[in-house]
Amino acid sequence: MRKFLCVAFVPFMYSFYYSQGTKKTVPCYDLSSVLKVEPTALYKSHLDASKSFGVKLLTDSKTVQKYINSGKFHKIKKSGKGYRVQKLDYSRAYMVSKAKATLEKMASRFSKETKGRTFTVSSITRTLEDQCRLRRVNSNASMGISSHNYGNSFDISYIRFNDVLKYNPKMEVALEKVLKYYATAGRIYYIKERQQSCYHITVRNY
Ligand SMILES: [Zn+2]
Repeated sequence: MRKFLCVAFVPFMYSFYYSQGTKKTVPCYDLSSVLKVEPTALYKSHLDASKSFGVKLLTDSKTVQKYINSGKFHKIKKSGKGYRVQKLDYSRAYMVSKAKATLEKMASRFSKETKGRTFTVSSITRTLEDQCRLRRVNSNASMGISSHNYGNSFDISYIRFNDVLKYNPKMEVALEKVLKYYATAGRIYYIKERQQSCYHITVRNY
């Protein structure tokens, strides 16, 4: 009898817990635990660069809208010379003007070096809300603050060129050459993110 009760009770408790969870409208992140995550030394330079643009940590759509309205955030076009933006499910196509201009310059340089090919931007600006939605589908998404949370970081896929998803070592080398050029010039930081098959790029306030 005791065993029976236990088995019958567990699914009930589970569904109770689950329905409580889905009704919640509070943020899906806990700011104090997000802030507690220590960035790696490599990533810290990205975060320091992000904080130098005078944009506060983007928590939700409202904060993004505030920066769009004040003219601080600029729309990134879906395509331009040398680049395409993938359909963005967990990020928004807005950045500070220096980041937008740097992306366009990098793309234009890539186009020149590859006789008109395009690279693919796979992620742009994220709020903390976007980040926890992303974490539900991708457990590698950062638990802490990301430089995407400030409007000066974006990702470029290294497996999608000319809108085609395919390993392309020649294009990857060309992309890396452009990244190195801008990093050496002191304009960007970049990290290769193997789990996401992309380069994570943060524009510095040069
Ligand atoms: Zn990234």
